[in-house]
Amino acid sequence: MATINVLDSETINKIAAGEVVERPASVVKELVENAIDAHATAITVEIKDGGTSLIRVTDNGSGIEKDDIPLAFLRHSTSKIRTADDLYVIASLGFRGEALSSIASVAQVELVTKTASDLTGIRCCVEGGKQTVLEEVGCPGGTTMIVRNLFYNTPARRKFLKSDMTEAGYVNDLIMRLALSHPEISFKFINNRQNKIHTAGNMQLKDIIYNIYGRDITANLLEVNRRSSTMEISGYIGKPLISRGNRAYENYFINGRYIKSPVITKAIEEAYKNFVMVHKYPFTAFHLQMDTSLMDVNVHPTKMEVRFNQGEEVYQLVYRTIREALEGRNLIPDVTLES
Ligand code: ADP
Ligand code: MG
Repeated sequence: MATINVLDSETINKIAAGEVVERPASVVKELVENAIDAHATAITVEIKDGGTSLIRVTDNGSGIEKDDIPLAFLRHSTSKIRTADDLYVIASLGFRGEALSSIASVAQVELVTKTASDLTGIRCCVEGGKQTVLEEVGCPGGTTMIVRNLFYNTPARRKFLKSDMTEAGYVNDLIMRLALSHPEISFKFINNRQNKIHTAGNMQLKDIIYNIYGRDITANLLEVNRRSSTMEISGYIGKPLISRGNRAYENYFINGRYIKSPVITKAIEEAYKNFVMVHKYPFTAFHLQMDTSLMDVNVHPTKMEVRFNQGEEVYQLVYRTIREALEGRNLIPDVTLES
């Protein structure tokens, strides 16, 4: 008797959701990345109960064309790439065409959207992966995505969530990083009706750092800016005195994407060696810009990892830039001169 089953699309989507949608913060990440890709200049994120009962992301971006709406919720449907060749030159944050279908398979989703050229907008509801409502509505240009009752049909997942406060904390950290990664966009974060974050979107990275980390950090920054043959680094690093006991303040962004990279983390920490005590980690918030062909973001479904074609150049650029900034300010106590 045959025992191999071909899974139905609902099951396939739920499995995919397991990779992309781990918790409320992962939903927020995907929705905000979509808003950024839609060239929004203002993005508001609102959550209730840690994001488990409600997540609402509103943007003033391009909106979704009426005919595209049913497609947007299908798996592997994306407006951002066409062929496998495009995978090597990805300029957008999204490209896998998985987020909306994954989210819609584990939550109740409502979409309200309008493009600049349409007179009326569209409201569409999807539940358990199936469209339940599609109607015209009056609304401003852009897109609002509302995600209710996350994991309502996957109780095992829901059980793994932490307290509402902890989940809201993850969302807060994420919005901080998204705001730092796109200084040109105004971000607002509202948790249980309380305003938590509001950035101006005035391009000033330092203003965002002030907004998020406060005066003490902002008063102890060194500006970095340097170019190598194929990449550029710009932003801020903290003076050694504001280093701390964990890596939570090590932020860096590549082409506007918050990622984690062992190469960059190592370059940062090697550069700070002798400037900070062991088990102390610096504050950094800098942007690397490089040609999209020099890196591969198609490593993991969450797109938090990248592979560099020229890892050594990345390492050297980060290491030297930071090292010189630190040495230039003569921050090492001058003990050797006295003896
Ligand atoms: P991906 O971002 O990888 O393309 P998604 O499932 O996240 O896949 O989104 C599917 C498609 O829906 C996107 O390619 C885009 O065309 C459209 N879309 C989703 N969110 C928005 C938004 N906020 N504004 C405009 N278009 C959107
Ligand atoms: Mg996306």
